[in-house]
Amino acid sequence: MLYEGDHSFLVARRDIAMGEEITCDYNINITGGTAWPCNCGAGRCRGTTVGDFFRLPLDIQREYRPLLAEWFVRAYRDRLRALGLG
Ligand SMILES: [Zn+2]
Repeated sequence: MLYEGDHSFLVARRDIAMGEEITCDYNINITGGTAWPCNCGAGRCRGTTVGDFFRLPLDIQREYRPLLAEWFVRAYRDRLRALGLG
């Protein structure tokens, strides 16, 4: 997710082939959300959406860290630093 002013955009992390289904991970830039089962069918699906960036496995948090919105990083800087992601 890319934030510019009052707008937000989904940005692909790689080229998308015509007809390819795209998915997004709802656990980026969120804390305290509701968990629900996920059946998206993506190869890397964890089977659940935890609704909280900080409840993701640490390797996924590390992978997603460069993708976090600046406002999220500012709001949770201390928590990110405690995880070595600051
Ligand atoms: Zn899924």
